[in-house]
Amino acid sequence: MSASRIAIALLVAAGLPWPGQAQDATAALDAAAKAMGTATLQSLRYTGTGSNNSLGQAYSTGGAWPRFTVKKYTALVNYTAPAMRQEIVRIDDEDPPRGGGAGPFTPATGQGGIRPIPGDIIQNQNSDGRTEIGALNLWLTPHGFIKGAIASGNAKIAGKRGRKTFVAFTAFGKYTVTGTLDERNLVERVATVIDGGFTGDTPLTAEYSDYQSVVGVQLPRHIVQKQGGFPVLEIFVAEAEPNNAAALEIRGAQNAPPPAAPAEVRTEKIGDGVWFLNLGAPQALLVEFKDYLVIIEAPTGEERSLATIAAAKRLVPNKPIKYLVNTHHHSDHAGGLRTYVAEGIPIITHTSHKGWYEREIFKNAHALNPDRLARAPRAAMLELMGDKRVLSDGTMTLELHLMRGNRHSEGLLMAYVPTLKMLIQADAFAPRPGAAPLPKPSPYTTNLVDNVERLKLDVQRVAHVHGGVDGWDAVLAAAGKPVNASSSTSQR
Ligand SMILES: [Zn+2]
Repeated sequence: MSASRIAIALLVAAGLPWPGQAQDATAALDAAAKAMGTATLQSLRYTGTGSNNSLGQAYSTGGAWPRFTVKKYTALVNYTAPAMRQEIVRIDDEDPPRGGGAGPFTPATGQGGIRPIPGDIIQNQNSDGRTEIGALNLWLTPHGFIKGAIASGNAKIAGKRGRKTFVAFTAFGKYTVTGTLDERNLVERVATVIDGGFTGDTPLTAEYSDYQSVVGVQLPRHIVQKQGGFPVLEIFVAEAEPNNAAALEIRGAQNAPPPAAPAEVRTEKIGDGVWFLNLGAPQALLVEFKDYLVIIEAPTGEERSLATIAAAKRLVPNKPIKYLVNTHHHSDHAGGLRTYVAEGIPIITHTSHKGWYEREIFKNAHALNPDRLARAPRAAMLELMGDKRVLSDGTMTLELHLMRGNRHSEGLLMAYVPTLKMLIQADAFAPRPGAAPLPKPSPYTTNLVDNVERLKLDVQRVAHVHGGVDGWDAVLAAAGKPVNASSSTSQR
């Protein structure tokens, strides 16, 4: 073996591009840029209709994200900034709805909190190409991929299959972005892996088909984006205009940054032995027993879980956290579960959640952003329940019940504290202060009332995992039931 062959063998072994690969990639990208008309493209505006989906809000564990119809879609891409803006008008027209995705209640629009969401839902998003996720959004577009791959200087041929060529480049030292060029040198697919938080290293893909030439620029008429293997956006393009002037005005930082999360957990006692541990919605709850503590809900991610655990220990020193109760698998409620696994705290959840949690959530790679469990893997302690489980030690009793037949999530649990006549619920009811009543009651809320009546629970107050405490009458009213008539409260 010659010295140069040895060097190449070492490069290949190290996973680095060797000169031939880089030359091939440059040639492939040049051919694609020529075929696609990329060099002349500075900006792009396109419109269409289709659907988008609420990530992390599937009805079933490991199932597809809930679908919303997109009535109007406008994308403005400025490849020179680089920046991208998407304007989406969507409607919640699945009847009856299934899964989550209502988003937080917004008094100004009267939308959110509970499905079905009334009226047109306006969603505008800006991607700043100078940020990691913003750049990935741009590189996911067909021309963005070619421009990004050329600019990276590290593109290589990642493989060939039939007449397809795979070209990959590495960005920010950790993301591999792979484009598939078809036999006409058009970008047919772009794929990368991002940190999905709850789901760990998560595939993000975009598929492009039905290309048409518009003033010398090849543009797809059909776009499908997927995250975690399921669609998040599907657009049938109606109109496209290369080098659109308005698109060239798009800049990244048009939207105000989101308000900074409160640094400290706010604790709020809502009954003897029960507190909200609030670091923004959804929140966790603390329930104190004679010798131990139970935390209900592990919202959003590790930072929250660590802050929640610290707040619980400050509030009630010297009692161990015996269980974490997980009401359901949505990422806003379960995103911090892995921290409890890492801490060795058993998790009570519905039996329907076992497979997905054990196969994916507690096992997925977290190489892009290693959390505690990734750094020190250990087995989860799942305590699975079916219809009912009661935790009681003579001082405190906490009943956990399955909300049978609730369409928000399979295996949705609610909690009941008999001594306080208090129900703790997630996502089956949302207060809508100041908003017009929904055209008809949400089936999630009527199901909550049905379950409380089936179980003959004597509920006076309802604590919401997304914040606030209401009288049971508020839930009855939202469910379209007579208040103070045939309710379970009045039967007692
Ligand atoms: Zn939910």
